[in-house]
Amino acid sequence: MLEVLRKIVQEVSLAPDLKSVVDMLVKSIRHAMQTQVCSVYLFDADEHSYVLMASEGLNQEAIGSVRLSAGEGLVGMVVQRAEPINLEKADEHPAFKYVETTGEERFSSFLGVPIIHHRDVLGVLVVQQREQRRFDESEEAFLVTLSAQLAGAIAHAEATGSLGRIGEPEATKVELHFDGVPGSSGVAIGQGVVVAPPADLNSVPDKPAGDIEEEVESFAAALEQVRSDVRAVSLSLAKRLRSQEQALFDVYLRMLEDNALAGEVVARIRQGVWAQSALRDVILEHVRKFSMMEDPYLRERATDIRDLGRRILAYLQESNTRPQEFTDTTILVADELTPAMLGEVPTDKLVGLVSVHGSSNSHAAILARSLGIPTIMGVVDLPYTKMDGRELVLDGYSGRVYVQPGEELRAAYAEILRDEKEQAAELQTLKNLPAETKDGHHIPLWVNTGLLADIGRSLERGAEGIGLYRTEIPFMTRDFFPSEQEQRQTYHRQLKAFSPRPVTMRTLDIGGDKSLSYFPIEEDNPFLGWRGIRVTLDHPEIFMVQVRAMLRASEGLNNLRIMLPMVTSMHEIQEASRQIGRAVLELQEEGCAIERPEVGVMVEVPAAVYQIRQIARLVDFISVGSNDLAQYLLAVDRNNPRVSDLYNGYHPAVLQALRFVVREAHKEGVPVSICGELAGEPGGALLLMAMGYDTLSMNATNLPKVKAAIRKINLTDAQALLKEVMSMDDAEMIQQVIARRLAEQGVAQRYLPFIPG
Ligand code: PEP
Ligand code: MG
Repeated sequence: MLEVLRKIVQEVSLAPDLKSVVDMLVKSIRHAMQTQVCSVYLFDADEHSYVLMASEGLNQEAIGSVRLSAGEGLVGMVVQRAEPINLEKADEHPAFKYVETTGEERFSSFLGVPIIHHRDVLGVLVVQQREQRRFDESEEAFLVTLSAQLAGAIAHAEATGSLGRIGEPEATKVELHFDGVPGSSGVAIGQGVVVAPPADLNSVPDKPAGDIEEEVESFAAALEQVRSDVRAVSLSLAKRLRSQEQALFDVYLRMLEDNALAGEVVARIRQGVWAQSALRDVILEHVRKFSMMEDPYLRERATDIRDLGRRILAYLQESNTRPQEFTDTTILVADELTPAMLGEVPTDKLVGLVSVHGSSNSHAAILARSLGIPTIMGVVDLPYTKMDGRELVLDGYSGRVYVQPGEELRAAYAEILRDEKEQAAELQTLKNLPAETKDGHHIPLWVNTGLLADIGRSLERGAEGIGLYRTEIPFMTRDFFPSEQEQRQTYHRQLKAFSPRPVTMRTLDIGGDKSLSYFPIEEDNPFLGWRGIRVTLDHPEIFMVQVRAMLRASEGLNNLRIMLPMVTSMHEIQEASRQIGRAVLELQEEGCAIERPEVGVMVEVPAAVYQIRQIARLVDFISVGSNDLAQYLLAVDRNNPRVSDLYNGYHPAVLQALRFVVREAHKEGVPVSICGELAGEPGGALLLMAMGYDTLSMNATNLPKVKAAIRKINLTDAQALLKEVMSMDDAEMIQQVIARRLAEQGVAQRYLPFIPG
């Protein structure tokens, strides 16, 4: 049964549209379960009812016309209960509703299973049989398993199906949204431009044909090039291959003939699509057909067809002279965004970024934050190849992408965007003003850096120091570990640019979702694995080289502070401190004029929270990494879009931990800063200031906003707000209260995805 299940899931994942998905499903399930009827009902949001979308066994006229609302009939009961219903004599059940067109009076037994995606009942899978018998446990289990596995694919196919065609009248388009994780905050409104990696059929974007004849011609040219490549390979291998193997090349050439694949592609181009997507559709359709075949020899042909398709695509891409057009408000969309892709768009035209894969720590997201471009990562359900030319709205605060936004939503976001632009202009005037509350409390605002470009922006915005220099970023942009000398130069630039202001350099924090291509760490559970200090203590050679480079870079400047990430136990601090001490001595012996820098740790793990007093006695400063701390306290992967709504820095448990750390560390007389994203939000910053944090470190982009908020408020008001929220028990309510209180003081704080109306 597992094999059947796997096959059905595979079929569905390859199906080109929703209609094919449901048709295929009913056929395969009826066959696999040997039942007389299999039907699929799906939710129609416009009519608020469940429509019979496909059936094998019921009258075909009923398809598309039978509709049941939640609670209506047995199907409606499955929806309402959101659980399977298995009946021997369906027609005797009080909820049974006789719908004449279906002809279902002939069938006695009924098993209905809900299709649930992200808690929404998308539809119902039903099997029915003439004879009076309950479907047995294994049959029920099979259908439940299948439904759970297919829900995502059905949701995806539905969303893709609801996308109108580009250029279609607005009224016929449905507003859709897809959730990812915030990569860089802010709002963007613009047009999608899909960037595809070379020769990847699955990533080819949908585009209309500019000039049909030109598309046909370029396809013919690409085809001819592949044909001649195949002939050349065949010829060069002729002596070494037996005639049977040689014949394979003839098969390839036949596949490429005009009355085969090539003809189909041309026919599709003539329907008005550009050659690349015509090729993609035809090839993937054949790949699907072949991979479903029983005969292993024929199944193998799927690989050949895909390979031929890739080759033709590569030539098509090479010869594509149609210049990529960027509107003034371009939003780049890619399966996996890379920094190089960002470089393809003129900077003044790039307003937003969307990546289907990747996390907030991907290189592209790091770069986007540094450039202040709203970015959403990990939008796994987005049918991204269909985004080219579409209007998109990005909410980089919540991590939501809106496709084909309606008038009301677009207008609301346009207003937020206007406010942000206005505010940005006002904020420029703040550079030389102190971050001081109305009642005279000064809190230094520092920045988080990583790229060289961050230095200029940070200084421009009046940062008083660097609270977190993520040293792994220069490591990530290379092909091997940088030498001590190279590291020294990189670090020196940061130290020099900020001197005499303090620069906090974090030792290499890799593992989790931060990987180095030349030092892969493959683990089942990377966030609980070999991360941060655990890696560097196991590799003293890497650690020592880095520490020496930092120390040498600080010669003559003396503004270096060293910070250790992911500390869980005291012995890690002791061991790292010992090694830092040794490096200082060695360098002093070598004649370097350096002093031992301040050494601190990051509190990112719950264990460190509860040992904070002991930790404080060993270090010069403490900095809370609230991004990781929230992740570990809430047991929510901060980069997993499936649980992103559970990840919340305002969760009462997180706030309790943050307050506990600062109170306890202060009892030991140790200064405490924070360098997680929470410090970069006006509301978060005010709460942290009220808790007693000595310094806030954030993204340069957010610094002026936070400074403006601090300057508009009294410390006593912030303390009152803190007192109010610390007595609350729900993160969302807390955020609402903060937003309300801040609005009363004239401070804007975004807290929830925008909900129009
Ligand atoms: C944090 O965890 O809060 C932090 C600042 O470190 P990073 O985001 O680099 O893991
Ligand atoms: Mg961290």
